[in-house]
Amino acid sequence: MLVLCKRGCGKKAIIKRPKTADPLCRDCFLAAFEAEVHHTIKENALFTPGSTVAIAASGGKDSTVLAYVMKILNERENYGLKLVLLSIDEGITGYRDDSLETVKQNRDDYEMPLKILSYEDLYGWTMDRIVAAIGRSNNCTFCGVFRRQALDRGAKLLEVDCIATGHNADDIAETVLMNILRGDTARLRRCTDVRTIGEDSIPRVKPLKYAYEKEIVMYAHFRKLIYFSTECVFAPNAYRGHARTFLKDLERVRPSVIIDIIHSGEQLSFREGVKAPKRGTCERCGFVSSQQPCKACVLLEGLNKGLPRLGIGKKSKRDRMLAEQERQLVARMKAHAVKNDF
Ligand code: SF4
Repeated sequence: MLVLCKRGCGKKAIIKRPKTADPLCRDCFLAAFEAEVHHTIKENALFTPGSTVAIAASGGKDSTVLAYVMKILNERENYGLKLVLLSIDEGITGYRDDSLETVKQNRDDYEMPLKILSYEDLYGWTMDRIVAAIGRSNNCTFCGVFRRQALDRGAKLLEVDCIATGHNADDIAETVLMNILRGDTARLRRCTDVRTIGEDSIPRVKPLKYAYEKEIVMYAHFRKLIYFSTECVFAPNAYRGHARTFLKDLERVRPSVIIDIIHSGEQLSFREGVKAPKRGTCERCGFVSSQQPCKACVLLEGLNKGLPRLGIGKKSKRDRMLAEQERQLVARMKAHAVKNDF
């Protein structure tokens, strides 16, 4: 049976849109997708004309679609932005080295300057070596914390006004679920923000906040965009994986669940007295943090001291580990001193 595009263009519908279940033709789907990203940008005043925006580029579908849509909207809607690509090389052999080749292709295709920063240069560690030290559990904690700060470092280096990330609606709905399941009210408060900013830090924006992951894949397919789709060799992050599976199950029954969860997160309010972490800057490295020292400094300290689990878990545990190391050091020094007495 011939189904016509719901937008009334007279063409044959070739997809059922995941977000709305509307039958659409290719061109109307692309137009609707771009119009919605443009609406998110304008409605939330994400960018100021004349500013420089770093697009966090991994070579994956989200950042590739973000770079492409930002380029065409910037030109078509006269945003007046200077766009640059910023990539982080975590040092994951067989994964990031390959995906960076895709980013370089994006750089050439979209004619945007590209800056690549590596964990090796910034922290003296690659993820390959971190995983060798910590094992396959908690490795994503190191990777996520270092990546977040590496983007801030890159943005400062490039002197950009803001960082645009490719977080999509599914990512945000998963994060809302995870924060509820963990009881992490601090993160729950801000995880649906389309724009985040801390004291002295470069703002981050999520222009794809309301874009469904399935539609991002469709968009890339119809636009014939080149992206890297291999999963990280150190994945999966087990906890997010559970939230993702749960969300996909719900989506099968009720496609609007993704947007519904985001809206629920946006409407949440907290009773007075619930502590909200104050985002400031780390006294050691000077980058954004809501604790002293920042998590990246604590994790790095642990790696460099041969105590890779130092920053994992509660602060009290960290203090106990440091105290134990101090005790062993004093004992060794005493033993050495006694030996020298003879
Ligand atoms: Fe990093 Fe984990 Fe993502 Fe791999 S899966 S890139 S280790 S955060």
